Amino acid sequence: RDSCVSDSSDSVISSGSDSEGHVYKVVLLGEQGVGKSSLARIFGGVEDGHDCDEAGNTYDRSIEVDEEEASILLYDIWEQDNSQWLKEQCMRIGDAYIIVYSVTDKSSFEKASELRIQLRRARQSENIPIILVGNKSDLVRSREVSVDEGSACAVVFDCKFIETSANLHHNVRDLFEGIVRQIRLRKDSKEE
Ligand code: GDP
Ligand code: MG
Repeated sequence: RDSCVSDSSDSVISSGSDSEGHVYKVVLLGEQGVGKSSLARIFGGVEDGHDCDEAGNTYDRSIEVDEEEASILLYDIWEQDNSQWLKEQCMRIGDAYIIVYSVTDKSSFEKASELRIQLRRARQSENIPIILVGNKSDLVRSREVSVDEGSACAVVFDCKFIETSANLHHNVRDLFEGIVRQIRLRKDSKEE
């Protein structure tokens, strides 16, 4: 099954450096309850009956973006325990980050800004791809953070922005394609 490779040498596409066996580590950050695990399960294909490896809240999957395969290892371990060590590891291991807040929870939005600052501090000189995600866009009536506030925040923090609904599967694919494109962009500009 092409969508569930754990060994990236399975990839049949050989052009481009992304297919040379590199696995991109993507880390989910954000307050409890914002929908990180829901997004991760959709990415992992759990809800479509895919039997992807799910060991310790990591999801291994390759997706095709712009006609090129990309292998992603998605980490949903931010709240696994409260140890400082784990938090520091999370800040260190990612090739890219998805910072999630809930559009129905202003404090989770404020927390997202804090996480962005922490990340910048931990990885000072690096230009790491980050996507700010406003999840639960389906909950129209309990919205506390507007689209404009979300995108303005992303401008300030120099990262991409997208609103998603894990419940409706809205924009979830776009989110993960977006992170792959961001990783490729930064990688290309580094190599030049
Ligand atoms: P986590 O703590 O960040 O991993 O959040 P979870 O994925 O466990 O989700 C927390 C709760 O929010 C669960 O009850 C989910 O069903 C719910 N939830 C997650 N995403 C959405 C969404 O897009 N829309 C709605 N309405 N509920 C969501
Ligand atoms: Mg969770």
